[in-house]
Amino acid sequence: MSSNMPRKAGRHFLQIPGPTPIPDRVLRAMDNQVLDHRGPTFQKLASRVLDKVKTVFKTKSHVIIFPASGTGAWEAALVNTMNPGDKLLMFETGQFATLWHNMAKRLGMVVDFIPSDWRVGVDPQKIEEKLREDKNHEIKAVCVVHHETSGGLLSDVAAIRKVIDACNHPALLFVDSVSGLGSADLRHDEWGIDVTVAGSQKGLMLPPGLAFNAISAKAIKASETAKQPKGYWAWDEMINANKSGFFPYTPATQILYGLDVAIDLLHEEGLDNVFARHNRWGVATRAAVKHWGLENLCRDERFVSPVMTAVLMPDGKGADEFRKIVLDTFDMSLGAGLNKVADKVFRIGHLGDTNDLTIMGALAGVEMGLEVAGIKHNKGGVQVAMASIAAAHQQGHHARVAAE
Ligand SMILES: *Cc1c(COP(=O)(O)O)cnc(C)c1O
Repeated sequence: MSSNMPRKAGRHFLQIPGPTPIPDRVLRAMDNQVLDHRGPTFQKLASRVLDKVKTVFKTKSHVIIFPASGTGAWEAALVNTMNPGDKLLMFETGQFATLWHNMAKRLGMVVDFIPSDWRVGVDPQKIEEKLREDKNHEIKAVCVVHHETSGGLLSDVAAIRKVIDACNHPALLFVDSVSGLGSADLRHDEWGIDVTVAGSQKGLMLPPGLAFNAISAKAIKASETAKQPKGYWAWDEMINANKSGFFPYTPATQILYGLDVAIDLLHEEGLDNVFARHNRWGVATRAAVKHWGLENLCRDERFVSPVMTAVLMPDGKGADEFRKIVLDTFDMSLGAGLNKVADKVFRIGHLGDTNDLTIMGALAGVEMGLEVAGIKHNKGGVQVAMASIAAAHQQGHHARVAAE
């Protein structure tokens, strides 16, 4: 930051859909001297974390932790299980699905990319049609984004599993839950996911730097014969080293201290309570957006997001200019529109370690920003969001009283 910038008092509002603010207890946990990653203290920490991270994915199988960004976990899923030229089925939910698709093509795989307008989640029926057409079982994996972070679109992974089973198709199911995990329910085992891809900096409330692959027995079996070249991402060396609480190369020791505590925090609150508060904020934010007279990029109720809301700018007004005004005036970062929707949407993150009043502050910042920027809107969206959040708590309160 340049020295002539005026000081901003108070906390910055980081309302982007990741990286997200980090709980103080997690920050304190990482404020530790660096460990010998081949020594006994680290071994204890890693064994504990590798074991308990499974509870967040709701799996009994192995979860691999790479020192990498989420993008690395996409690559790891593909290079460990596929052969060059293998066919994949993907669905264009938005920018993250597009980037994963581009990566698969770079790796020499052939992708059938079901096109969409970035305003809906995965349509299981379209997956089913493609799988039924694939009589020779050439499709080796179905890859979907659980929560598409460019548009705020949550897809029904259980429904996708169902159609794969209904077709009796042997394809593996790969799910990107980088921005879903820890904010929206994800059930790796129950939903029959073969590889869940995740990252540290969104619902897990950690700094960027860890990438995850939760892997099924079927995915491990595929990895034993897969011919795609791989080095850094090789699962077998990871699994072998992890057995004794170690890694084949230097892990992100500091973030693992943080992960240890972040998982505890999620369970202290209760995963269902974590998901419920994200849902509450999604409902309240959408109510405010609707009241302002603005449009949610997500155009189908079935896919609305508990994680973030992408708002379309009215009358061709620039979203980036609006975000700049909000940042300069209220010290709040909103998410930018990406690629196809660049400058057309701004994204309000309502995920991670935050609370009702912070979300209300964020919505107030958006409403005041609309006023400052001279963007036509109906006043009182914040009021509507307050009523929505209060009603949710009132219901909970009545239910508790009735139960007593
Ligand atoms: C953030 C994100 C990624 C990419 O993660 P990086 O850590 O930036 O590599 C992939 N998929 C989704 C859905 C994301 O939200």
